[in-house]
Amino acid sequence: MVSKSKLWWTLAGVVGLVGCQQGVAPRAGGNADSRITSTLAQLNETDRPLAEEQAYCAVQTHERLGSMGVPLKLDVQGEPVFVCCKGCEKKALSDPQATLARVEQLKARPK
Ligand SMILES: [Zn+2]
Repeated sequence: MVSKSKLWWTLAGVVGLVGCQQGVAPRAGGNADSRITSTLAQLNETDRPLAEEQAYCAVQTHERLGSMGVPLKLDVQGEPVFVCCKGCEKKALSDPQATLARVEQLKARPK
């Protein structure tokens, strides 16, 4: 017999694999910025300025880092790269050149 909690975590895992579309939607008219700021504050001293500079997910470039929870830090050919969620990690690593090119564009984007 499968316990209810086990089933729940299995479902949660499946949703996690699908990507971040199932993630927490930004609250309408809300204080998304302050929520993102407090999420990014959970990163360490080294990573936080990097994540703030990149500001957006390296895969889903419309997605603010921190909007899906604490961003994931990846090492892409020695460069620190942040993605918004686990679902983006594989995509970021599957084409490192394109990922690094997007990060460059994101850093050049006016904040
Ligand atoms: Zn993502």
